[in-house]
Amino acid sequence: MAIIETKNLTIIFDMPNNTRITVVEDINLSLEEGEFVAILGPSGAGKSTIVRAIAGLIKPTHGEVLYRGKLVEGVNPGVSMVFQTAALFPWLTVLENVEIGLKAKGIPPKERRERALKMIDLIGLDGFESAYPKELSGGMRQRVGFARALVVEPEVLLMDEPFSGLDVLTSENLRNDLLELWIEKRIPTKTILLITHSIEEAVYLADRVIVLDKNPGRIKQEIYVNIPHWRDRESEDFLRLVDRIYSIMMGKPIATKPSKPERYGTPLPHVRVGAIAGFVELVAELERKEDIYKIAEDLNMDLADIQPVIEAAELLKFIDTTGGDISVTEMGKIFAEADVLEKKEIFRKQLLANVPFIQQIIQVLKNKSNHRMPIEFFIELLETKFSTSEAQAQMEIAIDWGRYAELFVYDEDSKEVYLEEEVPESEKI
Ligand code: ADP
Repeated sequence: MAIIETKNLTIIFDMPNNTRITVVEDINLSLEEGEFVAILGPSGAGKSTIVRAIAGLIKPTHGEVLYRGKLVEGVNPGVSMVFQTAALFPWLTVLENVEIGLKAKGIPPKERRERALKMIDLIGLDGFESAYPKELSGGMRQRVGFARALVVEPEVLLMDEPFSGLDVLTSENLRNDLLELWIEKRIPTKTILLITHSIEEAVYLADRVIVLDKNPGRIKQEIYVNIPHWRDRESEDFLRLVDRIYSIMMGKPIATKPSKPERYGTPLPHVRVGAIAGFVELVAELERKEDIYKIAEDLNMDLADIQPVIEAAELLKFIDTTGGDISVTEMGKIFAEADVLEKKEIFRKQLLANVPFIQQIIQVLKNKSNHRMPIEFFIELLETKFSTSEAQAQMEIAIDWGRYAELFVYDEDSKEVYLEEEVPESEKI
């Protein structure tokens, strides 16, 4: 029997402007005994929301969460959570911080102390029992967070990006220490669910990787990692799987329900033109196809951070990412080598050919006799599909791209968007 199951888990949030956003939809997943599962997805895909629903901290709008076949109502008794940063009580020592979880469960003081000390030892905090959080490094504080979660001997350990706030070396040590406890069954935990945006981390740790799509968050694909521990990140099997998962993440989103027409296309990545141009130039300079991982590493950036830039450059057909490798297209090469004016011209062409929302704006402006429209008009259109803040962000990006392409401009004073050839109202005498 699955330890955790979600059935058609759907979570919809009511937004202040009376709209509702579906954050995750129809999530069916199960965590079996002995399984380490990772959920991978871009930020905003609803990963944390799923985990919080499993923990019983959010009530599903539709569907249900089951723990050992029993409906979870209220806080899930079988789970412990570890977050990106451990929220420790600054006035308590390491030992007291770890004991807190047991106190809440009504365990008597003597047993509390014994179990906490044992866990502190196991997690590598020996000698720090009486230290206060402020005396510890970030990595040590995170270890206290792990100890506090594990000391109650949860059947299910939920981890929400637990390593992403730490530097490379510290996170690697902690990752390996946790993996060792898990593989060697030194903790009684039956199943682990990890949330991450790092493909490499997911493939390194998990037996199964669930790739989420966003808007709304849905399961795109599940991939089994059939590589025995300890895994070699440089091995062919490992690299091949990382590439495959990358392609899945970057591939076409699964079809959404046809009930709502996709009038404005998929959301624009939050990236300004300058970043796109710089990135295309960088890719054009590479001698050959390059693994996307290596590019992120060379730039000393997290893959999740450059992902929007990659998405934008691919949307405009300047680069191609088939198979997890990245290469510049013919158009991208011309764009990279062009001078400023030519660049604008090419960008304009690609924008008109590939971004429906930009075409929509131009269509509306052309149809108005004075070729101008209050920005609110477009934002309201966007709000039928996005939250208020996302609608604002989408409009800002559209204006940035449209201005660079010399298609349309935004006049701050009149709060209107107008076709480029028009003189802004505020400049008229
Ligand atoms: P991830 O963990 O994949 O980055 P989250 O689960 O944190 O994604 O959030 C997914 C989306 O849901 C985001 O757009 C976020 O703004 C929105 N969201 C999360 N919690 C709430 C809430 N309580 N009310 C409204 N929107 C929320």
